[in-house]
Amino acid sequence: MEEAKIQPAPQSLDRGEFYPKVGDWIVKEFGKKRYEEFRKTLPEELIHRLENADPAGWYPVQDSRLLYEKMFACFGQEYLESYVQYYASQALKGFLRGLVAFMNPLGLARRSAALWGRFHSTGRIEVELLSRNHGTITLHDWNYSPIHCHIHRLWYAELARIAGGKDVRVTETHCVHRGDEFCRWDIRFN
Ligand SMILES: [Zn+2]
Repeated sequence: MEEAKIQPAPQSLDRGEFYPKVGDWIVKEFGKKRYEEFRKTLPEELIHRLENADPAGWYPVQDSRLLYEKMFACFGQEYLESYVQYYASQALKGFLRGLVAFMNPLGLARRSAALWGRFHSTGRIEVELLSRNHGTITLHDWNYSPIHCHIHRLWYAELARIAGGKDVRVTETHCVHRGDEFCRWDIRFN
């Protein structure tokens, strides 16, 4: 008789496409020498990933958490924003190409949110438009680290700015790391 198999919880994965962008950003912002110093702070496997990730491959979310935490420790919180700006500029040449010209800030955030599943194997995003310049983005079933929440906030703020939003304010009003059932960001701009 076959033994009953215990099914492990599905592992959450991210696409590898952002790994090379992290390396490119560090070299561009701080130079080759700082990049060499930074890579020494990473486990061997992550160094290899940074330089050889398959953009279409899937990798554990825990690894992106570690990478972001190391970036935070090495370059400081203010530079995470610079990284997100660089990532957004690359995304606009790639998967968000051509959208900025005809989308308002919430439209672009909504388009990006609709692509969540292309980059993350688990989790579900809902976007609610409350008025022309106010909306919310809710992320369900995704609970990895406060640093991801921070990156998400910067990402939606940057998209709103790129699409012409002035005085963009993005606040995380609910967070699984504060005991809420989901993470929610409130977006307002003029
Ligand atoms: Zn959160």
